[in-house]
Amino acid sequence: MDSDKTCAICGRKAVFYSAYLKQDMCKKHFERMVIKRVRSNMSSHKTRNKSFVFGDENKCGKEFLKFLFKDMESSHGEKLYSYTLEDFAISVMKFFLFHDSPDKKIEQKDGFSPLFNVSENEIISFFRLKNKDVEKINRNGKDESVLKFLTEIEERRPGGMISLVKAGIKLGII
Ligand SMILES: [Zn+2]
Repeated sequence: MDSDKTCAICGRKAVFYSAYLKQDMCKKHFERMVIKRVRSNMSSHKTRNKSFVFGDENKCGKEFLKFLFKDMESSHGEKLYSYTLEDFAISVMKFFLFHDSPDKKIEQKDGFSPLFNVSENEIISFFRLKNKDVEKINRNGKDESVLKFLTEIEERRPGGMISLVKAGIKLGII
C-alpha cells in the first residue's frame, strides 16, 4: 500500500484498504475491525454451549478461528465452520451461473460460519502484520475459475464479493 495513505479513523499510516468499509486503515484499526466483525457474527448466533469443533473446510479460515477462539476449541459440541467470504461468494455465483444447488449455508443445523463476511485476503493480511505466514487455500478447477472471475470484479469494484454474499443471504441461497 502507498505510504501516503492514512487511516480513515486515526490518521496514522495505513496498511490495509478495507473493501468492506471502503476505507484505508492502520494496523490497529484494521485488526480491530476484523475481530469486531467476527465477534458480532458470533454474538448474533445464539450459542448456549461455549465449546466448538473447528471445521477443516478452509485452512486459512481455521487458523483465524483458532487465533480468535482458542479457549472455545473442543473435540465435541457445536461446529464452527471455517468457510470464508470467498467460499460463500463462489457458492452464490455458481448458483447464478450454473444453477448449482448451494452446498453450504451460513447457519446450519449443527453449527455456523462466523467468517462468512471475512475474506482470505483480510485473514492473510491480519497474520502478515503479526509476522505469521498463512497461505491461500487451493480450490478445484471450477471453484478456482469462479473465484478468479470474482477477484477480477473485486479489483474493479472493491466490495463486490460482500455485495454478492449479502444478496445470497437475502435470497436464501446461503
Ligand atoms: Zn487507525
